Amino acid sequence: MSASGSGSYKRIETQLVHAGEPSPRIGGAVEMPIFQSATYEYAGEGSYHDIRYLRINNTPSQLALHDKLAALEGGEAALVMASGMAAISTTLLTVLSPGDHLLAQSGLYGGTHDLVAAEFPRFGIERDLIDADRRDSWAALLRPNTRAIYVEAMTNPLLEVADLEGVVQFAREHGLTSIIDNTFATPVNYRPLAAGFDLCLHSATKYLNGHADIVAGAVIGKAEAIEGIRHRANHLGGSLDPHAAFLLKRGLKTLALRVRYQNESTQRIAGFLASQPGVVRVNYPGLESHPRHARARRLFAGYGGVLSFELEGGERRAEDFAQRVRIPAVAPSLGGVQTLLTRPATTSHAGLAREERLRLGISDGLLRLSVGIEATDDLLEDIRQALR
Ligand SMILES: *Cc1c(COP(=O)(O)O)cnc(C)c1O
Repeated sequence: MSASGSGSYKRIETQLVHAGEPSPRIGGAVEMPIFQSATYEYAGEGSYHDIRYLRINNTPSQLALHDKLAALEGGEAALVMASGMAAISTTLLTVLSPGDHLLAQSGLYGGTHDLVAAEFPRFGIERDLIDADRRDSWAALLRPNTRAIYVEAMTNPLLEVADLEGVVQFAREHGLTSIIDNTFATPVNYRPLAAGFDLCLHSATKYLNGHADIVAGAVIGKAEAIEGIRHRANHLGGSLDPHAAFLLKRGLKTLALRVRYQNESTQRIAGFLASQPGVVRVNYPGLESHPRHARARRLFAGYGGVLSFELEGGERRAEDFAQRVRIPAVAPSLGGVQTLLTRPATTSHAGLAREERLRLGISDGLLRLSVGIEATDDLLEDIRQALR
């Protein structure tokens, strides 16, 4: 299915539009049709995992996405799935077996944290949470059965940037599989496989699709590793449906345009917020005040579209701000064209005990902004009036 001449799709903007698209074009259509078919005529396939069927993850829309995602992240192969959590759980359940041990960054995305901390023990998979910024603390947690190390490109909602170079080296030194959730950075800002990670995960619900109208996930890496994950996925069953696949592929085409604009817009908004008297703290890796700004500048081509901040007056001021803003919707999730505002204490981190949440640095008044593609000046004016 891969287009002939795909070698000429060198840069990400071109890959986003053309990589993986069928060649020759189907019926001449410049946009690939939706293949709304669960099953396909038998063509001599020899094994169950090769029969063409939606759940087996090998139908035309899925295959086109696999080729496109692999090209974007610079991997040999990719697998698209029904959600970010489907990609994460299927990947971890392939890399890890009962009796294995995982090192996982503390403060991971809530769903991932709960999977690792609450579900895995039931399957005999052990884990330790690491401070991914303190490389010297990891070796003490190694066990003979440690198999993998798992981190995120930037954490939510504090936008911490872990020692990702250290993670790659540590994994190599100790024979671990290094896994990164690259949702917040996207391949526009960071390419983990080129940096030495073994597996790169996405909640494609966020930037990759970019329009807040589907859930989807992906994993990218070496062909052999992805084939193993696909086998497990075929049994666990979290496959992406054709219409969502169509929307994801359409959304991907504008990824570079969206993310670069969001990088710029968010940088300006972060700078503005940091200059306001009633703002106690702004968390954004693009600010020089960010404790890991130098590292972020070295690793990333851009700092992304999410920031968080704290207002003087805590929870009450934060609620007041959320009621006053007109452009952002107050809603969970991120990475879409619409600007979204959340108070993590009531959304992503509502499941944590208050003490634990405060210990992680997520105060009652912390607000998270996922900056969309609206005019930056409109957003700045809106934020200014809401702060007053
Ligand atoms: C949203 C998100 C997920 C989960 O993705 P779903 O598509 O909602 O299943 C995983 N990791 C990160 C960093 C996310 O933001």
